[in-house]
Amino acid sequence: MYPGDAEFGFELLVCRWVETSWPPESTRRSAVLVSRQLGTRERRWDTVVVECDPEGLAARRRFGERELDSDLLHVVRNAPAEWSWYRDALPHPGYPWRYVRAAVHRAADREVVETRRRGNRIEIRRVAPYPDWVRRIVAVENKPDLDASAARALSGQLEHDVETALADEVWVATESTGSRIEPALLEDLPVDVGILTLSFDDDVGAAGEAEGAEPDPTGTVEWYPSEVTPADAGRDAERRRRRLELAERAYGRGWRSYHETMRPDCRHFELRRFGRALVPHCAAKRRSQTAAECAGSCPEFEPEPPAWRSRGWPIEGGPGKGIKRLLRRRRADVRERAIDTD
Ligand code: SF4
Repeated sequence: MYPGDAEFGFELLVCRWVETSWPPESTRRSAVLVSRQLGTRERRWDTVVVECDPEGLAARRRFGERELDSDLLHVVRNAPAEWSWYRDALPHPGYPWRYVRAAVHRAADREVVETRRRGNRIEIRRVAPYPDWVRRIVAVENKPDLDASAARALSGQLEHDVETALADEVWVATESTGSRIEPALLEDLPVDVGILTLSFDDDVGAAGEAEGAEPDPTGTVEWYPSEVTPADAGRDAERRRRRLELAERAYGRGWRSYHETMRPDCRHFELRRFGRALVPHCAAKRRSQTAAECAGSCPEFEPEPPAWRSRGWPIEGGPGKGIKRLLRRRRADVRERAIDTD
């Protein structure tokens, strides 16, 4: 059983499994970056896997750890190798140049292009070519308890994902029941959607065992997805643009960042080790809390006592700053490992 009964815990473990084991049932490991709760205005996915070109991903590092939004991408991707007036260098964006000028200044502040002033003109030059680092995008919907009604509720969204084909593959991840034929296979899901089951060792959920002693969940492909990439994908500039923006958001927010959106500074916030993953646990609720409920508005939120901050607390039980530091460090380690994959 995954930690607590919150889908959030399951989602974190799916992300962790993807980081260590993608693509499924293959000995080839690809450079992946994994992000949660990402998508478009119309559709948000639980887990987004960006399969990357290893050299491209390493080259992307030159543009910093933060995401490049659509305005910055317009500047960075089109910045010339030699100094040039920005209006000569960049294609007309389809909106007023003054917004481009603001984006040029932002890009210069982030040191992702160089600028200089010639008279009243601003010239730009690239710091490096923006790399072609995104190979494929995979969307995963997490539904640990995939019964018939959950499958019905999901089915429409998955059909939408298959039809819009913004991702190259669509999967559902669910908890394994251990049956010879997984019930998920019998549910009414679109045939193009892959089904992945994750098995958890019951003993693994207990907190506090020695590091590395517990196995990670194991993943099994019950049904392979069809690749839904349209035949004319290479010529579809709008699709490429949307996917790159999505990948950039994953780059900036990925690698399972939750320490900034939850409340590790609450006295009830704990981390429980689950395999090689650290999953939040709420001592007040006595379960794995969701990201949404772990907020300042939570009725049980209590700031950690100031006295805690003066002690060197271990992982469990705070204090919040130590937990944040730990999560930041682990996130940076995973990021480095993914970028160094070759
Ligand atoms: S009491 Fe509320 S804010 Fe505190 S850890 Fe639990 S869920 Fe988060």
